[in-house]
Amino acid sequence: MTDMTELKREARKVALQLLSATALPDSQVFTKLDAPRYTTVDYYRMACHLLFQCHRCGNCCTTGDPIRLRPEDATAIARHLKIPLNKAIKKYTIPDPDKPGVLDFKHILPCKFYDANIKGCKIYAARPWSCRIFPFLGIYGSEDKVKVNESCPGSVETMKILTEALEEARSDSKITGAADPAEVRRAKEFLRKALNSI
Ligand code: SF4
Ligand code: SF4
Repeated sequence: MTDMTELKREARKVALQLLSATALPDSQVFTKLDAPRYTTVDYYRMACHLLFQCHRCGNCCTTGDPIRLRPEDATAIARHLKIPLNKAIKKYTIPDPDKPGVLDFKHILPCKFYDANIKGCKIYAARPWSCRIFPFLGIYGSEDKVKVNESCPGSVETMKILTEALEEARSDSKITGAADPAEVRRAKEFLRKALNSI
């Protein structure tokens, strides 16, 4: 685990990149139509993921329910477990009670894929998308764009560190003035690194 001094140094770097990345929308700096477009909120989430350190407390896997599945999540789990897709769907999923046609992960808490001995996920490489993006989920509306998940100590710590770093970065004279599209693009690409690790 990264020590606190190193994490704060990294947070300052991420905060500066975040302020730069959100100075212009993707549409102004990514001109190719095939480049994925993200919102300001998405970049805040990426920044959080770059700084996040899991405490391995297990709260998410022992209390989180329901967990929605994308079709490709079920496919990935079936492939990982080397079983047919229909068997994986039958064994591990239930229809979402509120969203017709959508599947939820069948949970009997704690999650049956949680290994309490190693405090980790038995299907880590094939865990559903909602597990991958945890704890920075539904985040619209808060001042810094990401809502803290109080049950996740890693999330609380990340937000505290990022918020402090943003406050410092906002007062940094280097980030004032008109946004340079090339610089904004570089900052966006820096934050997009987070997507490779989730
Ligand atoms: S699938 Fe893995 S990561 Fe997701 S809740 Fe279950 S144990 Fe946790
Ligand atoms: S609740 Fe947060 S800190 Fe705890 S295991 Fe889950 S992701 Fe890690």
